[in-house]
Amino acid sequence: MKPERPAHPAPSDATARRAVNPVICYPADSLPRPDPAAIAAQRQGAQLIHDITVPPREARCFTVPAGHFFRITSVGGPQVGDLNLWSQDLSERFYSGKTRALHGTHLSTGDRLWSNFPTLRAMATITDDTLDWYGFDAFGGSVHDVIGTRCDPYTHNLLSDGGQYHHCCHSNLTRALSQATGLPMDQAEGHVHDVLNVFMCTGFTRDTGQYFMKASPVRPGDYLEFRAEIDLLGALSACPGGDCGGQHSSDVAACHPLLVQVFRPVVAGHEVPPVNAYDRSHGA
Ligand SMILES: [Zn+2]
Repeated sequence: MKPERPAHPAPSDATARRAVNPVICYPADSLPRPDPAAIAAQRQGAQLIHDITVPPREARCFTVPAGHFFRITSVGGPQVGDLNLWSQDLSERFYSGKTRALHGTHLSTGDRLWSNFPTLRAMATITDDTLDWYGFDAFGGSVHDVIGTRCDPYTHNLLSDGGQYHHCCHSNLTRALSQATGLPMDQAEGHVHDVLNVFMCTGFTRDTGQYFMKASPVRPGDYLEFRAEIDLLGALSACPGGDCGGQHSSDVAACHPLLVQVFRPVVAGHEVPPVNAYDRSHGA
């Protein structure tokens, strides 16, 4: 955080320096945009082929073939979900930081979930979001963030003077991936990565720039839906923070299940995006 009393005096032209206009780092209008009409045509009549319920304070894995849709729905009560995505051989994973740089702190319909280097391609496209009405609230908060990593037992241990808690999203995702793939827990843990915080309402305080959360506006029936751009392995954790209006990393909050459904489109012909075209010579 910035110091309340800076050790160094402001220069005489501090006001002018602060008044410089910002520019958008990565103007997303230069990215290929999904075609809403084509997506709607694929989604029309798509058939439910699989569903799985993620129990509270647990995670579950699921697979989604390229071109299929998957939907995460709130059931039972307000609940936040932490989402990881991999290619089915685990060689690609969701890159939350670059997705944030490209699409902003909070995602909605039309945004893509990008993969790590060197592939850096769209893994999934958000195709529907019943919370798109929320926008940004008076605190600067919004839903579906790519800023909050995931709740984990290591940070909890640091902040709670040695506490041991085993149902943080990081641990839930690790157990689920280990069970789904047969990988030992320590290897599975290395594949768990920063998440898309589905339904979570977060932001940064305007005065101190600190990460905040508040009770999610999600209600049963609300959903976030995606189209898989490549063959995906997903994992979703029903966060122990519940609606994340209180605290993390404990069994105090009221928690609810989350429903994941996979839909097969009637129309075939989905084009898998190619891996990134950079030649990887790095100037050597
Ligand atoms: Zn969590």
